[in-house]
Amino acid sequence: MKLIADKYNRPAVIFLFLHSLIYQQPACGRELITLSGPTMGTSYTIKIYPSNKALDGKILNARIERLLEKINLQMSTYIDNSDISLFNQHTSDGWLDIDKNVYTVIKEALRVNHLSGGAFDITIGPVVNLWGFGPEYKSRGIPDELTIQQELDKIGSRHIELRAQPYAIKKNKLPLAVDLSAIAKGFAVDAIAGHLDTLGLHNYMVEIGGEIKAKGAKDNGKSWRIGIERPLYGKQAVQTVIALDNIAMATSGDYRNYFEADGSRYSHIIDPRTGRPVKHQLASVTVLHRLAMTADALATALLVLGPGEGMQLAGQENIAALFIVRKKNDFTEIMTPQFQSYLLTLR
Ligand code: AMP
Ligand code: MG
Repeated sequence: MKLIADKYNRPAVIFLFLHSLIYQQPACGRELITLSGPTMGTSYTIKIYPSNKALDGKILNARIERLLEKINLQMSTYIDNSDISLFNQHTSDGWLDIDKNVYTVIKEALRVNHLSGGAFDITIGPVVNLWGFGPEYKSRGIPDELTIQQELDKIGSRHIELRAQPYAIKKNKLPLAVDLSAIAKGFAVDAIAGHLDTLGLHNYMVEIGGEIKAKGAKDNGKSWRIGIERPLYGKQAVQTVIALDNIAMATSGDYRNYFEADGSRYSHIIDPRTGRPVKHQLASVTVLHRLAMTADALATALLVLGPGEGMQLAGQENIAALFIVRKKNDFTEIMTPQFQSYLLTLR
C-alpha cells in the first residue's frame, strides 16, 4: 500500500495509547482478529470478534487493504493521479467524471460547509499549504497578510458544482482545489464497517487515525470502551472514556499538528474566514454520529467555529459533541445532552 506523508499522527497516538484501556480484558473464549497497517498518512486498526469461526483473517486483511488503496487512489492529494488530484490539476470549468465515493464525500462536505456557515471548507488547501501543513512541501512559519489574502482568493466551496447522473464535478472558478483530509478518514471507516456488515460480522471496532466506528460487544459482552484524549501538547493522557455501540466517533484537535513561532502555537486547523489557524481556547471536539464521515467533518467544523459559535451550532443541530476547552493550566468539558448519554461511568 502506498504510504502518504503523515499529517494525521495525532489521533493514531490517542488510539494506540488507549490499547491498554480497551483491550486488556481477559479473553472468554471468543477469538479476536486484529488487523492493522498504514493508510492515509496514519494507521488503521480493526478488531473483530467473528461470529463465524471460518473467517480467514488473511483474506479479510487483503480485502481491506484493497478497499483502502482504492479510497486513497480516489481521495488523496498526496497521490498525483488520484481523482481529487486530477480535479485539482483540471484547468477548465467543464464537468469531470468522478467515482460515486468521491461524489458522496464531497456532497457531505458541501452540506457541512453550508451548515457551518463556511467554517468547514474542503477548498481550504492553498491556505493549509501556505502555513506549511499541506502536501506541498513548505517550511512552517507565519505568512504575511497579503499572501494570506491571495491564497484566500483561491478558495470557496460555493464554486464547486456536483452532478449525480453520471457522477461528476466542476469548478466555477479557476484555480480551485479540494482537500478531503478532514473527512476522508471518516468515509474510509464507514466503508470498512459496511464491508464487515456485508460479511455478517456484528462485533467489531474500526479505527483510522482516531476516527472510529464500533459495533456490538467484545468477548466479555460489554460494549467497546473508547478513550478520548486529554488535549495535552507532547503528552498522552485520557480525558474521558465512552461506550460505543453502532455509532462512530471522530475527534479534531489543535494540539498535535502545530508549530511554534513568536511564543504562540499555530495549528493545522485553518479558519477560512481569516486564513489563519484557529486561535480560541477550544482544544478538541469529539462528535458521535451514525456515519464516521459526518462525525469527522462536524468535529473539524465545530473546532473551527470555537467554543461559542460551535456549541451553539451543536445545540441547534442536536449534534452529540464534547468540547474540551483550555482553562488556565487545566481543561473544562462542555457537552451537548446527546453526548452526555454516551458517557460511561467507570467502576
Ligand atoms: P481533522 O483532523 O479531521 O480535523 O482534519 C484536519 C485537516 O483538515 C488539516 O490537516 C487540513 O488539511 C484540513 N483543514 C484545515 N482546516 C480546515 C477547514 N476549515 N475545513 C476543512 N478542512 C480543513
Ligand atoms: Mg475531521
